[in-house]
Amino acid sequence: MRVRFWGTRGSLPVALTWRDVRDRLARALLAANGRNLDTVEKAHAFAERELGFSISHTFGGHSSCVEVETPDAAPDEYFVCDMGSGARPFGAHVAARQAGRPATVNIFMSHMHWDHIMGFPFFGPAYVRGNRIVIYGCHDELEHALRRQQEPPSFPVPFSQLGAQIEFVRLTPGQAHEMQGLSVTPQLQDHSGDSYGYRFESGGKSAVYTTDSEHKLDDHAARRRIVEFFRGADLVIFDAMYSLAEAVSVKADWGHSSNVVGVELCQMARAKKLALFHHEPANDDAAIERILRETRRLEELTRGAHKLEVIGAYDGLEIEL
Ligand SMILES: [Zn+2]
Ligand SMILES: [Zn+2]
Repeated sequence: MRVRFWGTRGSLPVALTWRDVRDRLARALLAANGRNLDTVEKAHAFAERELGFSISHTFGGHSSCVEVETPDAAPDEYFVCDMGSGARPFGAHVAARQAGRPATVNIFMSHMHWDHIMGFPFFGPAYVRGNRIVIYGCHDELEHALRRQQEPPSFPVPFSQLGAQIEFVRLTPGQAHEMQGLSVTPQLQDHSGDSYGYRFESGGKSAVYTTDSEHKLDDHAARRRIVEFFRGADLVIFDAMYSLAEAVSVKADWGHSSNVVGVELCQMARAKKLALFHHEPANDDAAIERILRETRRLEELTRGAHKLEVIGAYDGLEIEL
């Protein structure tokens, strides 16, 4: 199973500012001082191998969109979670790979908050006749929410004019849905208007997509349910928007979780890898890197017999499970 992150930012897409770019250039030039980088190839190799993440990468970027690729699926079949603004580059990827052949795209929707649906009007494959788009979710209002955001005066192309064949499929929380060697199980989460996480299992590997989910520290029954949902997962993509201090004080009941709670739940579930996701839009790369370092340190200090690998999800990251 392969997981590709097309959008990892929470609530609102963000871009690097010119100040960020200037700062990176300055630090890169300093790092390259005395090196004879006289061709683009040499400079590329230097950036690739010797500059750290904070100079050569950025977390991004687009709002939530995560692709799951499975070895058993048909070549023209795609699986993706949420239609945040990352749906635009994901759509370009589908179009390039299909090269004119029709595709089926299976979309699993966590909920209909704007940052999770805003990419759909810009999702190229939805405009192409012959494509089939199947939108899965557990909310009654899912179809209404997607149609509404393309109604005038908000968008020039109404949903009814999209060329692809678009279907909506209602899933039942807790019930596995089997498709092309992939098993997908939705899980109810605590969030304003409800959200749903998805557990994907295929070929002995498992990945959990769990965003926009708050975990109350004193709700033991809910915690047990979530730990079972994460149980033994190879990867947990986790809403780590806030610090623990924010999550239990000023931003309690805002519907998000923290890196600290992510570590604790993944340790209880003996998950293998935790990807911090749905980054706070007010945090720059340095702030997210600091949170990542602190989370890794926390994992080390609280580690039992079982190691949990902690990573920071960024736009463009691919993980092979
Ligand atoms: Zn969100
Ligand atoms: Zn939300």
